[in-house]
Amino acid sequence: MAIEITEDCINCGACEPECPNEAISEGDEIYVINPNACTECVGFYDHLACQAVCPVDCCVPDPNRVETEEVLIDRALSLHPDDEDLRRKVEANDYPSHFRK
Ligand code: SF4
Ligand code: SF4
Repeated sequence: MAIEITEDCINCGACEPECPNEAISEGDEIYVINPNACTECVGFYDHLACQAVCPVDCCVPDPNRVETEEVLIDRALSLHPDDEDLRRKVEANDYPSHFRK
């Protein structure tokens, strides 16, 4: 399930540098997440990095984009084809994921 930013966003910018996939950018009105680049931080963290820093709790799961851990880790690999560390962790089935907490 990709994460989305609600209209409660106050444009503080805290989330943007935290995303391991550069999925967050400044939109016309509020910050936005590219759902095709969001892995729910699977492969990098055991929590949602944007949600962890957002001061108004407006980074929330998008109920219209429910995705499995498998889909999300495959996305992480395709977004980071040269990340050997990530590839090794995936091959060992030992990578950070909020599904495994
Ligand atoms: Fe980026 Fe993780 Fe937030 Fe998705 S959940 S937008 S991957 S920081
Ligand atoms: Fe908006 Fe929250 Fe990101 Fe700040 S951290 S820009 S309030 S989504």
